[in-house]
Amino acid sequence: MQFSQTRYRTHSCGQLRQGDVGKTVKLAGWVHSYRDHGGLVFIDLRDREGLTQLVFDSEACGQAYHDESRKLRSEWVISVTGVVTARGPSLMNAKLPTGEIEIRVKELEVLSVSATPPFTPDEHEAVSEEKRLTHRYLDLRRAEMQLNLSTRYRVTKIMRDFLGDQGFWEIETPILTKSTPEGARDFIVPSRLMAGSFYALPQSPQLFKQLLMVSGCDKYMQIVRCFRDEDPRADRQAEFTQLDVEMSFIDRENIISIMEGLLRKIWKEILGKEIPDPIPHMQYDDAMNKYGSDRPDLRFGMQLHDITDLAQQTDFGVFKNAAMVKVIAVPGGGKLSRKETDALAEWAKGFGAKGLAVTKVTAAGLDTGVAKFLAPIAAKLIERTGAKEGDLLCFAADKPRIVHKVLGELRLKLARDLKIAPSTEFAWVWVVDFPAFEFDEEEKRFSATHHPFTSPLDGDMGKLDSTDRATIESIKSKAYDIVVNGSEVGGGSIRIHRTEIQQKVFSLLGIDEAAQKLKFGFLLEALRFGAPPHGGIALGLDRLIMILRGISNIRDVIAFPKTQSGADLMCGSPSPIDDRQLREANIRVVTPPPKAETPKT
Ligand code: ASP
Repeated sequence: MQFSQTRYRTHSCGQLRQGDVGKTVKLAGWVHSYRDHGGLVFIDLRDREGLTQLVFDSEACGQAYHDESRKLRSEWVISVTGVVTARGPSLMNAKLPTGEIEIRVKELEVLSVSATPPFTPDEHEAVSEEKRLTHRYLDLRRAEMQLNLSTRYRVTKIMRDFLGDQGFWEIETPILTKSTPEGARDFIVPSRLMAGSFYALPQSPQLFKQLLMVSGCDKYMQIVRCFRDEDPRADRQAEFTQLDVEMSFIDRENIISIMEGLLRKIWKEILGKEIPDPIPHMQYDDAMNKYGSDRPDLRFGMQLHDITDLAQQTDFGVFKNAAMVKVIAVPGGGKLSRKETDALAEWAKGFGAKGLAVTKVTAAGLDTGVAKFLAPIAAKLIERTGAKEGDLLCFAADKPRIVHKVLGELRLKLARDLKIAPSTEFAWVWVVDFPAFEFDEEEKRFSATHHPFTSPLDGDMGKLDSTDRATIESIKSKAYDIVVNGSEVGGGSIRIHRTEIQQKVFSLLGIDEAAQKLKFGFLLEALRFGAPPHGGIALGLDRLIMILRGISNIRDVIAFPKTQSGADLMCGSPSPIDDRQLREANIRVVTPPPKAETPKT
């Protein structure tokens, strides 16, 4: 990249090569490291583009600059003028793109000194994340973090260019708004002018993008911040970014094809990798039955096999009396010790299982664990699972929901622990035909699996009038998720565009007419005035960048992230506000302000 020349520099610190030898240049940046060899002082000068070695030799720069160079310390900001010089062959540094040259400094200007920093970019691994977040501006000086930020910028640019070329308009939607049900808690903002009333921060721009379709905008996109006040989880931020998309006069296949084109371009430009064309589709029911998850990691097999029928042929009560029995064959799992498999059983209890039955496949047949109960079905078991010598068979016997949860999680855990999943490959799949509604056992009512604006499949519309739980549970929706390596990177749906269907869905969800009017009156009203068939999707930008960069910490792809408990350790938010502000916002605080938090990163 060519820097515009300024009074401080003519080139970046990552730019100069052998071909520049002999040029007089100016560089500016931070002192990354310094070595004082008495007669010669070596400095690695850093900016976001790289490192360049500077040499201060009193013969070239004069005694005054040489003396000054000996005072330079980590993270001071300097500008130098000097001559690009070839390094002797034995002095070249093959690890640095600028490693063939160095700058023989003629003039030095100290632009700013640095106090001793709490850590230098090279030390980040030995430093707690709390300290890194408190001094985020220092942490962001690391090359890796700069690469995360530049990748993020490149990806959003591809998104804007690609979709712009296809006729999408980026349209901003409000941040101070009304609740949008995406299934999380809202962040709320008190209104000063309307005492007692509150805005909600958007969980997504869902209703606005649908209203833009009613407005005739046809193709909308936005790279947009969303806010969900959810309980802490390591890979989640309460404030996150989505690529939000909506289109009119389309079917599922149209949106899928555009998003595939976009993802293909991103993978090609950022990683130089291809994505299968087309990406395969998998029914939600298949994903649950075979992988125990609606976001299956398809980099490896270990499918769930249903053996409920075989279980009946044994005398093993735990299997015989269970609603469902399933098994996975874990390649190479036979080497796990009794202690390790016992620990797995304990772990499985965390997912609602009563335990975990296991046995090993040996040359002589099944051995150890529940082998003795399985003798009558051993041959059929091995045939059905395709298990090989050295495999571990893990069984779950319970209600389908628990069987799928436990074995789905176990599959992922063992793939991780036994390093079964290749780390550099990408396995893509669209999961389609989700159930439209889920029954919430605690609240004894249905909720929308995606969101309440998702259209049921055409063939299932008739079932919306039913009051029978099983019939309602069998309604499928026009929702789809894009999944890579077991991570859901996006999801969307074809929407309901007719008032009466939307009303029926609201009623089914237990939202009565008064509540419909109060919460969604504006949507129902808009649908009365000619809404085109429409649908869309949202991709999680933070997660996408994590996958592209192979990073597991979501905070590393966000410039100024929050801790898991929602704190910004650098600026110290959230923080109490003073009485005057509280009065103006018509708020009275009934609990004392929290003590300074113990950071949880
Ligand atoms: N609004 C949805 C979400 O944020 C995405 C969509 O349906 O387009 O998950």
